Amino acid sequence: MTMLQNHSAGTLAASVISELESLALPPTPHVFAVWYAHVAGHDPALSAAIRSRQTLGQALTADVIEELHQAHIQNAPSAKLAEQSSRAVVMEIDAIVDLIRTSLGSTSDYSQKLSSLLGDMVTANDPTALKEIVATLVKSTDEARSMNETLEKGLRNARKEVDDLRKVLEDTRLETLQDALTGISNRKHFEQAIHAAVESASRSRRPFSLLMIDIDFFKKFNDTFGHLTGDKVLRVVAQTLRERFPTRATVARFGGEEFAVILPDADLMAGWVGAEAARQSMQARELVKRSTGEKMGRISISIGVGTWKRNDSAVALVGRADQALMLAKANGRNRTVTEAQTDINAVA
Ligand code: GH3
Ligand code: MG
Ligand code: MG
Repeated sequence: MTMLQNHSAGTLAASVISELESLALPPTPHVFAVWYAHVAGHDPALSAAIRSRQTLGQALTADVIEELHQAHIQNAPSAKLAEQSSRAVVMEIDAIVDLIRTSLGSTSDYSQKLSSLLGDMVTANDPTALKEIVATLVKSTDEARSMNETLEKGLRNARKEVDDLRKVLEDTRLETLQDALTGISNRKHFEQAIHAAVESASRSRRPFSLLMIDIDFFKKFNDTFGHLTGDKVLRVVAQTLRERFPTRATVARFGGEEFAVILPDADLMAGWVGAEAARQSMQARELVKRSTGEKMGRISISIGVGTWKRNDSAVALVGRADQALMLAKANGRNRTVTEAQTDINAVA
């Protein structure tokens, strides 16, 4: 026999009924009160009396239970024990009803059924009625549980659908910021990123640099090897730049065969160092046509570097980096020029 003090009243009552059934005892109010007090652990003396009878192999007949009722419940110092236990059942069921009302809503079948069962239980004297009440209680608890499972399953499915949808939306958002040919950031993302960088630098006063990059003599490359091979070279340049700069840097296709890199935490010198490293890795790559093994030579890039200064606007910064790029082209291409070397800066 286990003490079931922590079980809910529904389970406790059901277990009392089923134990009485297996002991072939009629669930009369007295028998029920005795067994409930015993199972709930309300009266240690009563439980001890029952256990000693069981140990001695004495049958627990209805008469024996009636004696126990008189000794431990009716005439016990705690004469109100029976009343107390039935009140305990009512209170426990009340608590369950409350719980179910809050979780399923007051209109749920289960809570209505429980409420009316609660009323029946308090007034029931007929043992058969009591048994039926408890059986109904157990049955509707099972029904409510399976309804809860269906609800939970529905909620889980709905949640998964929302998650999938959120992922599709996120992918779509990313796609609109990505260059279709090279997979790096597109012009739109570059615009967002440069404005964000200017705003952030204005607040933090931490430097950042901008690299404007243009492929040298790309028209000639296209004319020689065709536009499709030219497209592949654009991908190679994009990939080389992406590998060269940290993840935090924005590497974008600015348009056509032009690229731009926003390099966080980099002053003009750091920008120049980064640009030179990228230019040299591009120069180091010998391009080979994969299908035929034909060697296509090397591709060079020219780079102009500008760095953010106080009260700078994105447009002004792009303008200065562009000027530096033009100077790199004019000075012979395949080189890096910073804004410090341009006429604009010399005049300013
Ligand atoms: P420079 O050294 O002065 O930059 O010479 P360039 O030939 O690179 O410059 P120009 O502006 O004369 O030509 C740029 C070429 O880039 C022309 C165009 O065919 C090519 N181009 C632009 N966008 C794409 C593209 O998406 N795919 C391919 N294959 N070529 C492109
Ligand atoms: Mg160009
Ligand atoms: Mg070019």
